[in-house]
Amino acid sequence: MYGLSLWGDDNFKIKNGHLHVDYKSAPSLLSIIKQIRNRDIRGPILLRFPHLIHKQIDSLFTHFNRAIQENHYPANFFAVFPLKVNQFPGFVYNLLEQSEGLHYGLEAGSKAELVLAMALNPKDAPLTVNGFKDKEMITLGFLARQMGHNITLTIEGLTELEMIIEVAKEMPEAIPNIGIRMRLHSGGSGNWAKSGGMDAKFGLTSTELLEAIDLLREEKMLESLHMLHFHIGSQMSDINPLKKALREVGNIYTDLIKMGASKLRAINIGGGLAIEYSQSKHAKNRNYTLAEFSNDVVFTLKSITQNKNVPSPDIYTESGRFIAAPHAMLISPVLELFSHDYQEKSIKLKEQNPPLVMELYDLLSTLTPRNATEFVHDAIDHLESLLTLFDLGYIDLIDRSNAEVITHLIIKKALPLMVHAPTEELMMLQQKLQERYLVNSSFFQSIPDFWGLQQHFPVMPIHYLDKKALRPATLWDISCDSDGEIPFDDKAPLFLHDINLDEEEYFLGFFLLGAYQEVLGMNHNLFTHPTQVVVAIDDESFSFTEIQESDTIVNILSDIGYDGRNIEAVLKEKINTTPLLNATQKRDTLTKISLLLTQNGYLRTTN
Ligand SMILES: *Cc1c(COP(=O)(O)O)cnc(C)c1O
Repeated sequence: MYGLSLWGDDNFKIKNGHLHVDYKSAPSLLSIIKQIRNRDIRGPILLRFPHLIHKQIDSLFTHFNRAIQENHYPANFFAVFPLKVNQFPGFVYNLLEQSEGLHYGLEAGSKAELVLAMALNPKDAPLTVNGFKDKEMITLGFLARQMGHNITLTIEGLTELEMIIEVAKEMPEAIPNIGIRMRLHSGGSGNWAKSGGMDAKFGLTSTELLEAIDLLREEKMLESLHMLHFHIGSQMSDINPLKKALREVGNIYTDLIKMGASKLRAINIGGGLAIEYSQSKHAKNRNYTLAEFSNDVVFTLKSITQNKNVPSPDIYTESGRFIAAPHAMLISPVLELFSHDYQEKSIKLKEQNPPLVMELYDLLSTLTPRNATEFVHDAIDHLESLLTLFDLGYIDLIDRSNAEVITHLIIKKALPLMVHAPTEELMMLQQKLQERYLVNSSFFQSIPDFWGLQQHFPVMPIHYLDKKALRPATLWDISCDSDGEIPFDDKAPLFLHDINLDEEEYFLGFFLLGAYQEVLGMNHNLFTHPTQVVVAIDDESFSFTEIQESDTIVNILSDIGYDGRNIEAVLKEKINTTPLLNATQKRDTLTKISLLLTQNGYLRTTN
């Protein structure tokens, strides 16, 4: 069942062979997709489910608040969403709506993100700023303070602190809270671990920290120091580095308070909370639960601060991946299966056939459960001999094709019968039977972390789930790039259905795409962000609160700097002046071209 119980988090369920969203009226994904396609929308579709944003936020706050209660922790929990994880309006507006009343704020890491946060951050929710800053960006932070935002500027280096001091002299009435990002000696784990540790790109060493404190004290600004911040890297697979980092930062915090940082009251533990992307048990992505994570944070900070007799800090998190990943999924139609010609009807026996081809044919017709393994071995052996004969010129192309088709059919027929064969052999045979599924989407655009980091994302069909899927699958996207492929993987094998696409449709879902993928996605081959649809599910049914179609071809060209209208005009001029078409044909062609230019760039299947 495609590891649904591992990564699905009870968000989906299978009923009558269909994958359903397990929420309120529980519509099937197919029914949602059908309704969208009924509006003549084609190509891949990114679905967003606001209820899944709500679920993640609620889970984060509930776990931390429970841990705070259970540990009698004498301070509060706050959270901000790091905009870099997903800045798309279709996500951000829903995030703000779903977190109303929780004082859930935003984190910005660049000027553009800060401007967005200043416009959208809820009143009474914290706003934090990380990343490298210039004086302009710092001034922007002061302006945000003037506007009434509860803003913390986290410095990544001493120069930034010097700039804050400079701006503070110009705008002394609007000094934001200051946070300091710590360069810890404890690093993270997993694919993105290099954000933590001594060689990390960000943060102050303990020596620089002491300098910063001196500087703040000299400028009589020590009271502005509000927060200590660290981030040990995204998708933390193991909880131990976090515990180490907490002890380290907890002790820095108590020392700073003792040194006179009397308004220091917050520790920001950054992001890193992992999502389970794995579809197979042996490849699990994380060794902890959110309950354990929140308990560890609260308990560690409580023991350190109480032992040293200083007030416990408010706890801030900046979890991004955890909040955003589950809400979005991509549904792509399969356009073609690439070894479908290996069917019985493709065998073209001649009057006279090479003896080995006839032997292969015999093997196919007399295969039984008892002789299956032996016959497969014979068939592979015969095929190799026949290919050698072809290279030497003894048999022709028709013989060769027959040999390939028959061997393929023998393996296909034998595989389900070979129950006692060693696993490696079965794997090897499966590789030979691989089917290539051409998927109407761009992996560069929709799952860039697969291309760049081999990050696995769950994939499964959204229907036919009551039928056994037997074809080992390699997925091809429609970009003209051989890296646009998810190859069949022995260790995490994907099996899909044998579908006759002339008669049936086949839709694949790619899940947990809501974090990082959208903005990192690239327009390779000019395939742009897919059509996005926000789906609200209620007790009776579902509705679309927003449909934003993938960019039209004219706009795609304009976006990379062409004058799209001009390109259109040139095309029309060429059609109007060609001697090859008569007046009626010209009119027809012009209509076709106009229509095409206003459609998106993905392929349009007719079914
Ligand atoms: C990227 C980032 C985050 C978000 O990390 P996730 O692993 O997505 O939760 C949080 N804080 C900072 C400083 C970051 O750079």
